[in-house]
Amino acid sequence: MTDLKNIKAFAFDVDGVFTDGSVLALDNGDLLRTFNAKDSFSIRTAVVNGFPVAIITGGCSESIISRFNSLSIPSADIYQMSKNKLPDLLHFCKRHNLDISEVLFGGDDVPDAEALKAAGVGICPADACVECKEAADIVSDRCGGKGFVRDIVERTLRSQNKWIFNAEQPWGFSYKDEVNAAQFKTGRYVD
Ligand SMILES: [Mg+2]
Repeated sequence: MTDLKNIKAFAFDVDGVFTDGSVLALDNGDLLRTFNAKDSFSIRTAVVNGFPVAIITGGCSESIISRFNSLSIPSADIYQMSKNKLPDLLHFCKRHNLDISEVLFGGDDVPDAEALKAAGVGICPADACVECKEAADIVSDRCGGKGFVRDIVERTLRSQNKWIFNAEQPWGFSYKDEVNAAQFKTGRYVD
């Protein structure tokens, strides 16, 4: 397992990781999710301190794109309709010129298991499936949506003295752009 000090980027699944796995299904087919503000703060802090962050989810909705755009993640790093997460994780590594050993991946369910095994650090929440617990380097004591993301991002940044909040630094900007619109149509990255 790679030491947290060597991690240069993060990649996370969404449902069961940023959320407790619950979705509220609306009549029009949209799904509503509840996110944890402390997780969100840690993601923004990672991005502004130079860590690329990928979102790799089996889901597909405009709300996922706008939520993570608002945390300063560009649409090109948001992978939706991802079945086996590993190919998308490798695509993210290639885009950012990273070795997979430099990336921390967090996931909770069967499609995440291969990526958990391949990543420099694979971590799953306490309520992850058996396959993930077997594949992960770390089984967190936090459950999905209950500070799981915050805990590991904060620990990683602190280990590198990069847990830095600068109120003067602009953040929270949106990457909403043509890539975003194209991705929403196809559910996939466009390059
Ligand atoms: Mg999941």
